[in-house]
Amino acid sequence: MAKGLFITVEGIDGCGKSTQARLLAEALEAAGLEVLLLREPGGVKISEKIRGLLLDPGNDEMGDVCELLLYEAARAQLVHQVIAPALAAGKTVVCDRFYDSTTAYQAYASGLDPQMVAAANEIAVDGVHPDLTFVFDIDPNMAAARRADRLGEDRMEAKGLSYQAKVAEGFRMIAKTAPVRVRLIDSGRSIEEISADVWEQAHKVLSR
Ligand code: ADP
Repeated sequence: MAKGLFITVEGIDGCGKSTQARLLAEALEAAGLEVLLLREPGGVKISEKIRGLLLDPGNDEMGDVCELLLYEAARAQLVHQVIAPALAAGKTVVCDRFYDSTTAYQAYASGLDPQMVAAANEIAVDGVHPDLTFVFDIDPNMAAARRADRLGEDRMEAKGLSYQAKVAEGFRMIAKTAPVRVRLIDSGRSIEEISADVWEQAHKVLSR
């Protein structure tokens, strides 16, 4: 059986990536594919527990390296338990965040050594790489406004607007360095305009 397609969606909180991941998964299903929609950190029991540690605003003493390794531990378990077997069985996987988030947040915005972060990413994914990645690019103020109806901020959101701006810049840099895999999407538009753009690009890759 042919290996399934692995698609990831990325961007700062409030950029609209979860909305687009859901719409993309629905469109792929409507096209007859068996689709798994996942989120990081999380997706399986162990990784959801790690998510709790990572996002708990009460863990404000967490150091950058601890944060990096927890993200990678959550990722390693999700890849091992779900993503790798699903792709091997020919399923299409759509994942809300993957290793580009670690590069943008922990290397680009938090300042950890990019080579160390890249090495940690490699350990976690064990050779499983996305075929296609959408980065939803948005002004951090607009993203904050979209998050306004959420109850409180998680530990990553609480790092503030200038941190979010650095993360957004990191994602743009990733899109520049991997232009074939990573597509930068203007996320300041309507949900419908964005999803049409995403579907057009995903469809091209599917029909290769
Ligand atoms: P993320 O997963 O990036 O944090 P969400 O998809 O959860 O973002 O979207 C955050 C909020 O913004 C949600 O209330 C969602 O309905 C809304 N939203 C998403 N995309 C758009 C858009 N293009 N225009 C306006 N609001 C949007």
